[in-house]
Amino acid sequence: MDKQLKIGVSSCLMGEEVRFNGGHCRNRFLTDKISEYAKFYPTCPEMAIGMGKPRESVRLEREADGRIHMRSPKSREDFTDRMEQFSHGWSENLHEMDLDGYVFKKDSPSCGVFRVKIYENGQPAERRGTGLFAKTVIKTLPQLPVEEEGRLNDPVLCEMFVERCFAYRRVKDLFQTGWSRKDVVDFHAREKLLLMAYSPGRYKSLGRLVADIKNLTRDEFKERYIKLFMDCMNDKPTKGRHANALMHMAGYLKSKLSSQGRAELAKSIDDYRAGFIPLIVPITLIGHMIRRFDELYLAQQTYLSPHPHQLALRNHT
Ligand code: SF4
Repeated sequence: MDKQLKIGVSSCLMGEEVRFNGGHCRNRFLTDKISEYAKFYPTCPEMAIGMGKPRESVRLEREADGRIHMRSPKSREDFTDRMEQFSHGWSENLHEMDLDGYVFKKDSPSCGVFRVKIYENGQPAERRGTGLFAKTVIKTLPQLPVEEEGRLNDPVLCEMFVERCFAYRRVKDLFQTGWSRKDVVDFHAREKLLLMAYSPGRYKSLGRLVADIKNLTRDEFKERYIKLFMDCMNDKPTKGRHANALMHMAGYLKSKLSSQGRAELAKSIDDYRAGFIPLIVPITLIGHMIRRFDELYLAQQTYLSPHPHQLALRNHT
């Protein structure tokens, strides 16, 4: 948590006037909130291939050969090859850049990730496309947490994205120096409840991988652990899974709590599960109990504080 995240970002989201109309789409969460904890690496692929500004708008079109092209609907100029060439060249440096996450501009035929319009025969035919630049970045580094700026307005999606970026940073840091088997076992133990809140099944698979560490080469183990760790973090942490992780913590504290303390904790977890209170309430209560009883195993769980509390991301989820 002491290190700043490295976040790739569509330049227009940082307030750079690079859009087709010469404007920008500054995103306040990025520039005003998370900026204290992140260093940004902005790129505008359309400017990078020399489209200039202001410029013709472009869109994705499925053509007779089935291939998706990026074309201007007015002049019919085709930018596909230039954009793909640039994207591949740029993505070759992705490993070296060591990014922890990427925020793309939604709906863009270059940067959009999830539901970019694809036209066919001059008409919008489907909303399932991905911008050409974003597609190459995702393909090059499938473990990299990515999100669209529009979805960051949803508190649940926003928390998940930031949580994933910090998780990716931690797991990469683990393997950055001369790591030992003990380092891995300790790390895995610290991440246990966070992973359980995301995906209990994948957490178990990761445990089996750790148990098998002796039978794999260091590179093989590292690659498989990072992949499975991030697959786990890409799952969806439901309220039920969070409640189970909280119950797990409550189980550790059970013998030390009075019956009133146990009841208070159980009610807080139930209220969270039912959606009456946000996650921060039972987390704060448990944190207080952990400090009071000096419960070392729980105190070291990343789950208690997976991102800076100043971001207040658990106050609305
Ligand atoms: S969405 Fe991407 S291509 Fe479009 S202006 Fe923003 S950074 Fe440039």
